[in-house]
Parts: sequence; C-alpha cells; structure tokens
Amino acid sequence: MDLKNIEMFLLDMDGTIYLDDILFDGAKDFIDSIIKNHKKYIFMTNNSSKSKIDYINKMKRLGVLCQDDNIFTSGMAMGIYLQENYQDKKVYFLGTTALKEELKLYDVKFVEENPDIVLVGFDRELCYQRLEKACEFLDNGAIFLATNCDLVCPIKDGRYIPDCGSICHMLTLATKKKPTYIGKPNPYMIDILAEKFNVKKENIAVVGDRIYTDITAGYNANVTTICVLSGESTLQTIEESSIKPDYVFNSVKDIIEHI
Ligand SMILES: [Mg+2]
Repeated sequence: MDLKNIEMFLLDMDGTIYLDDILFDGAKDFIDSIIKNHKKYIFMTNNSSKSKIDYINKMKRLGVLCQDDNIFTSGMAMGIYLQENYQDKKVYFLGTTALKEELKLYDVKFVEENPDIVLVGFDRELCYQRLEKACEFLDNGAIFLATNCDLVCPIKDGRYIPDCGSICHMLTLATKKKPTYIGKPNPYMIDILAEKFNVKKENIAVVGDRIYTDITAGYNANVTTICVLSGESTLQTIEESSIKPDYVFNSVKDIIEHI
C-alpha cells in the first residue's frame, strides 16, 4: 500500500469526518498528520444545505483547522457551473437560505416566474407550493439542475433525513424530467479542485463513506479512492458494488500511518 504520493486529499464530511456534531475518533489527528506531511486537504461535501462560512464555523467549533480554501460544497460547484454554462439565465430555486446566499456570490439571478432553470438543493426549508411551481416550470421546458443525488443524509442515533436526491425523485415522478446533478458522483467537483490547485490526478485521493457518490466520483475522475467504514458502507456493500474503492479502512484514523 502506498499513499505517500498523494498530495491532495478530498474528504467527504458526513459519515467520514463526523456524524452530525460529533467528530469521529482520530479525525483531528488525521487532519493534523496531513498538515504535518505538507499535503493539502479539502472537505468536499455534497451537502448543499449549508454555506462555506457555515462549514468553516462548524469545523472551528469541532476544533479542526479549516480555512477558506479547505471547503468545497456541491452548492459552490453549482455556482461555478452556472457561471461557466448558464450565465445570465434566470433561476427558480428550491433550497435553503444559506445556499441562496452562497449562490448570490456567483451572481445567480433568482426569479419567481418564467425561469430558464429549476435548481434544487438539499432543501431543509422545503415548501409544497414551491414544488408545485417547480413542476409547472419543468413542464414548460425549464432546465433541471440539482446539487446532489444523495437520497438521505445521516444524522445521529442511526437516523437519516431525506436529501436532495429524494426531493428530485419526487419532481421526476411528477414531471418525468430528470435533473443534472453537479455534486458527486459527477467528477466535476474533483476536476475543478485539481485545476484550481494544480495537482495531477495521480496525486489526488478521494476519501468517503459512500460508494454511489464519493467512490464513484473518484472513479469517474480517475483519482485514487479510499472508502471508510465509519458511515454508510460495509464490507458487504463494497463486495456487492460493481465499482470498488482502491483502499478500505475502518476510519480515517487508520489512514494516518500510510501517508
Ligand atoms: Mg458521507
């Protein structure tokens, strides 16, 4: 096993670094060892319910060093995607206030009528009337974009809550329109970070607990993949999956001795 040539670690958060507000044992040591070895780390999360600032504050609260360049959310990736592909298009939005504020930093133009795009995030402030409107606009031919395909988000005590993917499935069942997801497993977020920090793909590793998002994104982007068993995946789910991670560890703590 050789992870010594990895220069940049792209780390999932929920189920990989923490669960809700509880940092996993050894997660801080893992980050400290990355810093000590002069490597980069970026928390790359599909969770679009919070903004970059929210995450920086959360990591600070949990005692983990996290600066501006250490966070990349699917919401931020959506902002870049809109700038690159749909600048000046009008967007009807289903998402949290935090995500809306984040997207304003990318000059996204929000409207309530006649949009070009229906954009869905992990909307923890979801309102039925907005679903009705979204269906109407999708029926009228609006482009359907979504931050992340996750069906559920894990919270404490083994519970979970419906995530962006579940909201999109509801809209798809109603309209027969499918969204383009910008977050993992789309390799888009990894490609942006590889270019931004000028790191070669062979020197990048994705670390995550979910096969269908984290590991598949790494596979699609052609980087090293590390699955941790601290969240959703078990040895059995990995065995049953057609996409296999390059490495499997019980938790991020066990990666320390290999970097
Ligand atoms: Mg996760």
